Amino acid sequence: MPPTPTAPLDLPVTVLPGVGPERAAQLARLKILTVNDLLRHRPRRYEDRRHLMTISQLTLGEAAATRGRIVAQGLKRYRKGTMSVFEFVLEDGTGRLHCRWWNLPFMEKYFAVGDDVMVFGKPVSLKPRTMDHPETEVVETGDEVSIHLDRVAPVYPLTEGLPQRWLRSLVWRTLAAFESRVGEPHPSLTWSGLPTRAQALRRLHFPEERPDAELARQRLALEEFLELQLTMQTRRRNLQAKARPLPCAGDNRLIKPFLHKLGFTLTGAQTKVLREIRHDLGGTQPMRRLLQGDVGSGKTVVAACSALMALESGFNVALMAPTEILAEQHFRNFQSWFAPLGVQIHLQTGSRKESKVQSSKFKIGAPELLSATDGAIRPTSRTALVIGTHALIESSFAFDRLGLVIIDEQHKFGVAQRERLVRKGCYPHLLVMTATPIPRTLGLTLYGDLDLSVIDQLPPGRGRIRTFVRGVEQLPKVHAFIRQKLAEGRQAYVVYPRVEDADLPAGIKAVTQEFERLEPVFVPHRLGLLHGQLPAQEKERVMAAFRANQIQVLLATSIVEVGVDVPNATVMLIENAELFGLAQLHQLRGRIGRGAHESFCVLVADLKTPEARQRLRVLEQSTDGFRIAEADLKLRGPGELLGREQSGLPAFRFGNLAEDLALVERARECARGLLASAGGSGQ
Ligand code: ADP
Ligand code: MG
Repeated sequence: MPPTPTAPLDLPVTVLPGVGPERAAQLARLKILTVNDLLRHRPRRYEDRRHLMTISQLTLGEAAATRGRIVAQGLKRYRKGTMSVFEFVLEDGTGRLHCRWWNLPFMEKYFAVGDDVMVFGKPVSLKPRTMDHPETEVVETGDEVSIHLDRVAPVYPLTEGLPQRWLRSLVWRTLAAFESRVGEPHPSLTWSGLPTRAQALRRLHFPEERPDAELARQRLALEEFLELQLTMQTRRRNLQAKARPLPCAGDNRLIKPFLHKLGFTLTGAQTKVLREIRHDLGGTQPMRRLLQGDVGSGKTVVAACSALMALESGFNVALMAPTEILAEQHFRNFQSWFAPLGVQIHLQTGSRKESKVQSSKFKIGAPELLSATDGAIRPTSRTALVIGTHALIESSFAFDRLGLVIIDEQHKFGVAQRERLVRKGCYPHLLVMTATPIPRTLGLTLYGDLDLSVIDQLPPGRGRIRTFVRGVEQLPKVHAFIRQKLAEGRQAYVVYPRVEDADLPAGIKAVTQEFERLEPVFVPHRLGLLHGQLPAQEKERVMAAFRANQIQVLLATSIVEVGVDVPNATVMLIENAELFGLAQLHQLRGRIGRGAHESFCVLVADLKTPEARQRLRVLEQSTDGFRIAEADLKLRGPGELLGREQSGLPAFRFGNLAEDLALVERARECARGLLASAGGSGQ
């Protein structure tokens, strides 16, 4: 076979003049293996070297670039030579600037008196003007002025041993050699308002003006978003082409009595969403729907009604929850709701599996399964609901006639896990539910292949939640406040960031250690302890006791974040609140405010910096999950907002999910257009 010709941009960097094995190894550490990788190595920042500041113009605490000559330099050692400071003094005719490096004695070798140096950093003092550990670049005689100096210059992320200007020259030369061979990915697309790919790559590195670099970034980000949208929309199209939907819309014979005995009427929002779901379940394609509703908006009842529709139609239903506590809670709820209807319910969690569900193949009506129909009421149908954790997606576990898959708190699972559960059946309908209000950019990126339903209304009669941010020194007052609420008959959560740690960083608290300290504070009330490392039975026992009000104060980790529902608990104290994301704090806070009583959430935090205070204030001022999630996305990025478990999120080099809504929407439209013209069969 003839060797497949490699596209020019896919050639390894070693084809470039000046890149030997050593440089190639350094570049590899930056994940630069090919010419293409090099051309997409994104500058960390830009420096407008046509307008550098003079030394006298530098202001305290503001990062800036300046340039001068070294007039003096020296290395000082102290503490018996174990510590050192290297310093040089830069002079540009307007003033002097001291630049210092601690404990980097080898810096001395890189500079000499008389060198022409550019530095970038933040002055830490003005008398004398001083920068600590600034970035530097020595200007060399015979330098290619057009690359390094008289322009907006790129400053790249580097790795040990790789000089900034060597890399910049390499990129410059590589652009010159390869620019003409940069192709357009989708020739039929018009990228109006944005540069071509070749232009974008040039301007990314060497923009005429700073805004050119931003437009270049946008063009490359749009490409990233487009690829993802194409993948998602193709998956969706394949599903539509292959799948024959299971008729699961039901006939109301179970839902009617269910709603009748529920004890409350559905909100308008719940009813609207159920109409959308019923339409999908009886439609011409398998449902792929994301149900989004803030904490406490009543998603569980919607899940229950959806399950009943499939059960009425003679299909089985699987419901997956992210934690055992939540799975158990759902099991209990659904048991009390469905047992009178004669629907069988089974529980499958990591710890329940051996004891209760022995058979590797789950068969309808198998007597050894944990069942909610124990004796009294006979099943009126042979269909069942299986509730479980990720244990449900274990390969040994099989489903017959699986009509509907429901995934609660979707953001705790990755896309891959979702797919594995769906594959247990033959194109079952899928309903995923999340309480994390997902900002639209993120939603389209992660769930672009799902239709969206929103419960935008809370059930009536909810007590208000008031939120307060307090410093650590106010804890005794907060405890007194909690005691008062306990005396009124209410219950409380106290949440800590850690379980247990022999050497905790100063000021950080762990729930196990605090348990002993707090016991005397709340006598005669009883405390319970809940965290992820306890055995499942113990977790269950503690939750049951808290629910029954045998425990009044539940000390927990963020494990209580999802789903737990105890309406009499109206106070929540969160310690080290500065360590939690805003969206996560909002989730935690969703555990209270579930009954008619007014609820109180107190965030105790280290408030040394004004930013810390500012950030938590968002929660004091708003109970709107969407606003909070947007703020969190901007402050901490998508990874933190969604939790580390989230594995479905691709890493973008150019795209920024906190800012690029317009680009994501445009990518979605472009993908639709491309697929429609390619397949011709687009509906
Ligand atoms: P989430 O959307 O956070 O999962 P839940 O489904 O746990 O919320 O519902 C929170 C509480 O509200 C539960 O106690 C539930 O029984 C109750 N609830 C749900 N819908 C209504 C309604 N329409 N009217 C009154 N209470 C409701
Ligand atoms: Mg829930």
